[in-house]
Amino acid sequence: MSRLAGRQFLNIPGPTNIPDRVLQAMHRPALDFMTQEFFDIQIECRETMKKILKTENEVMIYASSGHGSWEAAMTNTCSPGDTILICETGRFSESWAGMGEALGLKVETLANEWDRALDPSRVEDRLRADKEHKIRAVCMVQNETSTGMAHDIKGVGAAIRNSGHPALFMVDTISSLASYDFRMDEWGIDVAVAGSQKGLMLPVGLGISAVSEKAIAAGKTATLPRKYFDWEELRPNEQGRIRFAGTAPSHLFFAMREGLRMLMEEGLENVFARHHRLAEATQAAVRAWSRGNGPSLFCKDDAALSDSVTAVRMPEGFDADAFRGKVLSETNVALGGGLARLQGSVFRIGHLGDLNEPMILGCLSTIEMQLKRQGIPHGAGGVDAAIESLA
Ligand code: PLP
Repeated sequence: MSRLAGRQFLNIPGPTNIPDRVLQAMHRPALDFMTQEFFDIQIECRETMKKILKTENEVMIYASSGHGSWEAAMTNTCSPGDTILICETGRFSESWAGMGEALGLKVETLANEWDRALDPSRVEDRLRADKEHKIRAVCMVQNETSTGMAHDIKGVGAAIRNSGHPALFMVDTISSLASYDFRMDEWGIDVAVAGSQKGLMLPVGLGISAVSEKAIAAGKTATLPRKYFDWEELRPNEQGRIRFAGTAPSHLFFAMREGLRMLMEEGLENVFARHHRLAEATQAAVRAWSRGNGPSLFCKDDAALSDSVTAVRMPEGFDADAFRGKVLSETNVALGGGLARLQGSVFRIGHLGDLNEPMILGCLSTIEMQLKRQGIPHGAGGVDAAIESLA
C-alpha cells in the first residue's frame, strides 16, 4: 500500500488524539517513584480528578484499561452469587454484564432498546419490587459508546434514592468523562468507573475509580476474590498519595498531570461547550445526509444524543465496514465500527478529546466526499449544515 500523506484524522471514539504537550510531558527519564516529586504529581492528579468527577470521595488510579476499573467496582463490593442490575444501553452494558457473570455474580438485565434512552422510572419500579433487597448494585453506562447515546444518570440516581432501596449505584463514565457533565456526589453515585484514553486525552493505561464511603463499607463484607484492585490496599494514604500494587506507572502520570492541566486551563465548562458544539455540527451533517435516504442518526431520542460520539446507521444494502474501510485506506480518516449486533450496519464518529472545529469539519467533509465517491445515497449539504451549526 502506498504511503498516505498528511496526518491521520483520528475520529474513533477512543483512544483519542494525544496533544503534543501531553506527549512531550512523557519525553523524560524515569524517576524514583518513591520520591516526593512523584508523590506531588499523584496528589495533583488525584485532586484534579476529584474536580472533574465533582466528588469529595476517594479516587484511585491503577495501571489498567477501563476494564480494570469495571472489575474493581464489582470485586470490591460484591460476593459470589450477589445480584446486580445492569441497565441495558448497548455493547458496553452487555460487556460489563458479561464480566459480572464471569466473576460469579447473578446478572439481571433491565432490558432496553439500544436506540432509546433508558427511562429512570423503570429502575425505581424494579428496586421497589425487590422487597428483600437482593440487588446489591445498579450498574449503568453514562455514555454508551456503541450507540452514541447519553443516558440519564442523574435521573437514575434520583430513582434509586426515591425507591429507598440500599443498592449501590455504579456508573461507567469512560466515554463521557471530561466531555460532558458528571456529578458523582450530587447524583448519588457510589462508584465511578473511568479510564485515561478518551476525554482526558491521555494514552490508554490508567483505570480510575472514585468510591463513596458506602461502597468502601460494602467492601468490608464483600467476598469476591480480589488482590491487584483491592481498594483497601490502594486507598490514598493520609498525605493523599495513591498506592499501587506494584511499580507506579510514572510516565502515564507525567502525561496525566499535563492533560489535566490543559483541561483546567481551558475550563471544564468550556470543554463541555466545545464538545456540545462539535456534536451538534456532526448531528446536523448526518440529518442532512439522511434526507436523501442516506446515512441517519442511530439514536431515536434527540435528547439522548451524545456529545462525545455519534453513531450513524448506513442505508439498507450498504455495508458500514466497507464504507469506513475506504474512508481510512484512501483518505486517512479513522472512523469507529459498529459493535456487536450493530457491526456492518453502523459506523461511529468520535468527536471527543483534543478536537477543534477544523478537525471535525475535515472529518465530515471527507465522509461526504466518500459518500459521493462510493455511490452511497445521501442528501446534499451535510457539510454546509455543519458549518451553519458552527457559525
Ligand atoms: N465502557 C465504555 C463506555 C467504553 O467506551 C469502553 C471502551 O471503549 C469500555 C468500557 C472499556 O474500556 P477499556 O477499553 O479502556 O477497557
